[in-house]
Amino acid sequence: MDKRALSEMGRGTSEPAISWLMRLTLDRPKLVSLAAGFTDNASLPLSATRSTLKDMLAGETRGRKALQYGTTQGDPELRRITARNLQKLDSRGFARQNKLGYAPEQVVVTNGSQQLLYLVTEALCDPGDIVLVEDPTYFVYLGIAQSHRLRCRTVPLESDGLNIKVLEQRLGELEQSGELGRVKLLYLVSYFQNPSGVTTSFEKKRAALALLKRFEAKAGHPIYLLEDAAYRELRFDERGVPSALATGSLADRVLYAGTYSKPFATGIRVGFGLVPPEVGEAVVRLKGNHDFGTSNFLQQLLLEAMVSGAYEHHLGGLRVRYQRKAEIMTRALDRHFPKSVTWQKPKGGLYVWVSLPRGVATGRTSRMFRAALKHDVLYVPGELCYADDPRRSKPNHQMRLSFGGASDSDIRLGVKRLGAILKSFCS
Ligand code: PMP
Repeated sequence: MDKRALSEMGRGTSEPAISWLMRLTLDRPKLVSLAAGFTDNASLPLSATRSTLKDMLAGETRGRKALQYGTTQGDPELRRITARNLQKLDSRGFARQNKLGYAPEQVVVTNGSQQLLYLVTEALCDPGDIVLVEDPTYFVYLGIAQSHRLRCRTVPLESDGLNIKVLEQRLGELEQSGELGRVKLLYLVSYFQNPSGVTTSFEKKRAALALLKRFEAKAGHPIYLLEDAAYRELRFDERGVPSALATGSLADRVLYAGTYSKPFATGIRVGFGLVPPEVGEAVVRLKGNHDFGTSNFLQQLLLEAMVSGAYEHHLGGLRVRYQRKAEIMTRALDRHFPKSVTWQKPKGGLYVWVSLPRGVATGRTSRMFRAALKHDVLYVPGELCYADDPRRSKPNHQMRLSFGGASDSDIRLGVKRLGAILKSFCS
């Protein structure tokens, strides 16, 4: 392979772990995958989508609109509904904090929230810049950082979100070393985090934003909080935590990334951002060069599903279904995993984060991972979710299990197989 013509980015971008994980799954038909973040196949909204499509294409004007190009920023009505829904979600119990902007003009519709994460990072960061990330974090985001040659600095997670004291320490250290000017954002997966399942409390979001504001005066530019709310809607109970947008005067530093793909259908890959105008303008320009707009057909389909109520109806059922699947998984873990292995019962999202005794390695080259493959079961090695950070070595004794994609019986079977392997590695 002659790679000499490749750009630095073309040459320097590592293969995203998600690609080889998906390949492994597809190459082995007998494999039970508790790895990939696929959503529940059986409950995908097939008939709702069929009738929504029929309605959408029934009228001449609406039908033609859906089949035509749209705008770069996204359909105005979808942006309006998105802004209104976010404000509603954030208002519960926090109405008085909600004075600041949930304006449709601040919303940009993207190809999944993944594209928003990519675009805001590209809009803000130059090679060598620093992003602060949770430890562990969403491993696909680490790919974006790697590809853009960004440096990650990690902040440990606690049961209610990132450790604020350590965040302050990290910012202080960066100030000391003269690198604060390179810090552009703090990336948080704030609801039922991928991979740990942790939800960040509202107080911690506020505290993190206040810290960023304090240090940005010394940085010489704004430092943003990128709030990735990909799993927000997939909560099992009724009480949701407000987003960082509900922090009033601090909210002008919030870049909110949301998605319609997980709550409805992952194949309908529509996400969005709600971002301050100075970042929004750059994001929309970059998006113009990427694709000058997310598929209008998919946007109109979603809009139709939202207006008819099909979207909300489906989401209600999905929550119940995932709660049941989470229960199936944790029961199987109780039954088959050795007592020295720990995990938390999920309250939403798609994942269970499992910790083995330290010293029992789970990484891609470990005996454990090879044994799991040999016995046709796949998990995400925990070490993939840890950023390269010179300040600490990467933990390698954890695994992320997903109850999203596998059927009920495959969840039981996969956990049973893994349990048998684990028993031979730890007591
Ligand atoms: N953020 C997180 C934390 C995710 O887990 C995912 C999907 N795996 C995404 C963003 C992207 O999802 P989508 O592009 O489908 O909105």
